[in-house]
Amino acid sequence: MNRPELWIAAAAAAPVLSYFLGRINRWAGLAAGLLFFVFCSFMLAGEISAGAPFAALALWVAAALAHSVLLNGHYTDAAVNPAVEAARRKAGALEAELAGIKRETMLNAAGEKKSLAIYSAVKLLSETVEPQSAAKQLGKYLTDYFDTEEAALYLAGNSGGVMDMELFAQGAKGSALPSLAELVTAGGFPRETLAVSGLVLAPVAPAGEPLGLLVLRLAPEAVEGAARFTSEISFALKRVMLFRQVEWLSLTDGLTGLWRRNALDEKIREEMRRASAFKTTMGFMIADIDHFKRLNDTYGHQFGDAVLKRVAQLLKAGVYETDFVGRYGGEEFGIVLPRADSAGLLRKAESVRARIEAEVFSQGLEKVRLTVSIGIAHFPRDGRGPEELVAAADKALYAAKEGGRNRVVEAGKF
Ligand code: GH3
Ligand code: MG
Ligand code: MG
Repeated sequence: MNRPELWIAAAAAAPVLSYFLGRINRWAGLAAGLLFFVFCSFMLAGEISAGAPFAALALWVAAALAHSVLLNGHYTDAAVNPAVEAARRKAGALEAELAGIKRETMLNAAGEKKSLAIYSAVKLLSETVEPQSAAKQLGKYLTDYFDTEEAALYLAGNSGGVMDMELFAQGAKGSALPSLAELVTAGGFPRETLAVSGLVLAPVAPAGEPLGLLVLRLAPEAVEGAARFTSEISFALKRVMLFRQVEWLSLTDGLTGLWRRNALDEKIREEMRRASAFKTTMGFMIADIDHFKRLNDTYGHQFGDAVLKRVAQLLKAGVYETDFVGRYGGEEFGIVLPRADSAGLLRKAESVRARIEAEVFSQGLEKVRLTVSIGIAHFPRDGRGPEELVAAADKALYAAKEGGRNRVVEAGKF
C-alpha cells in the first residue's frame, strides 16, 4: 500500500483505535493509538513533507488521542467505576451470603446428624427384642448425638428404684465417667437436666417416673440437647425396660425371685454342656420342705409364703454366687452347682440342710422351725443327660423323705 492518502487517513484514525481499546484500559488505548500513529508516520515517511501538513496531522492526532483518553477516563472513572463499584459491592454481599449459607449448611448437617441419631435411637429402642445388642448400638448413637465418647446411660433394673439402676449403654469411653453410685450419693437423683463439675446429668423420666439417667462429660451448654435427647427416647426406653421386666418375670419366680423351673432346667443343660466340653463335673440338688402342708394349714398361706421367701434367701446365701438356685415347684427348690465335686456337693447339701434346721421363722409370738430333705446327684456319675440327672436327684429326695426327712441322700446311695 503506497498511497499516502490512505496512510494519512489511517494515521488520523489512530485516536479511534485508542478510544475503543481505551474502553478496556485508557492508557493501553493511548499507547496503541500512539504506536499506530508512529507506524503510519513511518509508512508515510517521504510521502508528505515534514512541514505544516504533518504538523497539522500530528496536532490533530494528539488532540484526538488526548480526547479519547479523557473520554475513556470519564467512562472508567465516572460511569464504569460506579458500575464496577456496585458490582463489587454486590459480589461482596453475595460472598457474605454464600459464607452464611455454607455456615448454615454445616449447622444443618450437624443438626441432621443429631436428628438422625435421635431417630435411629428411638427406632432401635422401639423395635428391639434384644435389649443387650440394642444397648451396644445405642452407645454409638449417644456418641453421634453428643460428639463425646464419654457418655453412659443407666436404666432402672427389675425391682425399680433409683439405686437399682444399671448401666445400659455407653460410649467408647463411658467407663471413664464416675459411677452412678458416686453421682447419686453426691447430689441425689437429679429431677431435671443439670450440669455439675464438667458433667451433664439428664434424668430419663417419662411421665415423671425416674427410669434412667444419662451421664455425659460435656460443658453446661449441652444441657438443653441432653434434655431433648432424654425426653425423645424416654418412652422407647420405657418399652425396653418393660420388655426386660417381662423377660425377667418369665424367667424368675415372683414370690422368691429365684429362677423358675424352665430357666433352671436350661441352666442344667447349659452347665452340663460346659462340664462335658471342659471335662469338669457339676452337682444338682433338690431340696423339699418337710411337712410344709402342715405349716400352711397351721399358720396360714401368708406365713407359708413368708417362709418360702426366707428359705429361698437361705439357699441363695448358702451356695456360691455362681451357683443357680431355682424354685422347682411349690416348696421344692433346685440348685445347680457348676464344677462341684461329689464330696463337696454332699458337704454343701448338708450345710444347707443344717442352716435351715437352725433358722427360727417367727410369726407374731409364734416361733416356727422347719426342716428340709435334700436329694443330690452328680454329673457325670449319676446321669449323662439333664433329665437323667434330675430324675436321679428326685429319687434321692424321695429316699430322704422315706428315710425320715431332714436329711441329705445321694443318688444311688440308698
Ligand atoms: P413332705 O414333707 O412330704 O414334703 O410334705 P409336704 O407337706 O411338704 O408336701 P406336699 O407336697 O404334700 O405339700 C406341699 C405343700 O406346699 C402344698 C401346698 O400347700 C404348699 N405350697 C405349695 N406352693 C405354695 C406356695 O406358693 N405358698 C404356700 N404358702 N404354700 C405352698
Ligand atoms: Mg414338702
Ligand atoms: Mg413337695
